[in-house]
Amino acid sequence: MRKFLIYFFAFVFICFILPAIFTKQDMQVSASSNENQEKKEENSSNNATNDRANIETNDEINNYEYKNYGTIKLLHKSTGETQEVKLDTYLCNVVSAEMPATYELEALKAQAIVARTYTIYKIKNKKHNEADICDDSTCCQAWISKEDRLNKWDEGKRQENWQKIVQCVKETAGKIITYNNEPINAFFHSNSGGTTEVPVNVWGGTGYPYLQVVETSGEDSYSQYSSEAEFTNEELLNKLEEKYQDITIDFNNQDDIKILEHTDSGRVKTVKFGNHEISGVEARTILNLRSANFEIIKEERKNKI
Ligand SMILES: [Zn+2]
Repeated sequence: MRKFLIYFFAFVFICFILPAIFTKQDMQVSASSNENQEKKEENSSNNATNDRANIETNDEINNYEYKNYGTIKLLHKSTGETQEVKLDTYLCNVVSAEMPATYELEALKAQAIVARTYTIYKIKNKKHNEADICDDSTCCQAWISKEDRLNKWDEGKRQENWQKIVQCVKETAGKIITYNNEPINAFFHSNSGGTTEVPVNVWGGTGYPYLQVVETSGEDSYSQYSSEAEFTNEELLNKLEEKYQDITIDFNNQDDIKILEHTDSGRVKTVKFGNHEISGVEARTILNLRSANFEIIKEERKNKI
C-alpha cells in the first residue's frame, strides 16, 4: 500500500533586513532639532556629532520635532502597568531583545534606528489607550528589562554586551527614518528569505509607498533560512477541513494540489487544494508554515510494514 506525503518548504527570514531603508530614495534617516541637548545628556560619540553636522544642513529634517518624544509610556502586558521611560533608554531594552548583542555594531545601529522609528510611529498612531507602545513582540515591539537581559548573558560578557547596545543607541540618537517628513511605519523582521514582500500582500489594506519588494542577499547562511513541514494526505485534509468543511481533494490528480500564482516577491499568492483556491498567506496560517514563501513537493512512499 502506498501513501502520499506532501512537503512544504517554507523559506523564511532571519536577519534584520530593514526593507524601508533601501527602497525609496526620498526616504531619509533624520535627526531632531534638539539633538544637541540629547547628545549632551547622553555624552554621545564623535561619530554621532559628525552625523549631526551632516544632517543639520537639511531643513526638512530640522523641522522634525523629535523633542516631543523624549519619553514614552510603555505598557507591560503581563502586569498591565504603564511605565514612563526615556525613549533611548527604552530602545536599549528593545534592541537587546530584538537582536543578539554579538551581531555587528552597524547591524545593531540599524536596528536601533528602525526601533526608534517604529516607536515614534506608534506614538503618533496609537494602538493602546493609555500607553504609546507595549512590550509584546507579537503586538508592538519586543522589550526585555536590563536585569533579565544581563542574566541571560554569560557573566563575563555582560558589561561588554550591554555597553555595545548602549553605544549603538547613543550613536544613532535622534535618528529616525522618514518619508515626506513623517516617521515611516518601520516594520522589521529577522529574515525575508531572499526577498522582502509588500505589506499589502500580507495584511491587505492600501500599503505603504516606501515599502517595496527588494532582494536581500546573504541570508541563506542563517540556520532558520528554510524549514520543512511534512503532512500525510490525511493530515493535510484534516488541517484544511478545520477551515473548509466541504473540502475534497483527489490525491491521485496531480493538479488537485498546486500553486497557481506567485506575488512579485516570489511568495505564493494563490494555491489550489481540491475544490478550494486560497491565498498563500492563508495556507501559511492553516498549515503553520514559517512564511508564504513556500513550495510543495509531493512524494509517494510505501508504508512501513
Ligand atoms: Zn502593543
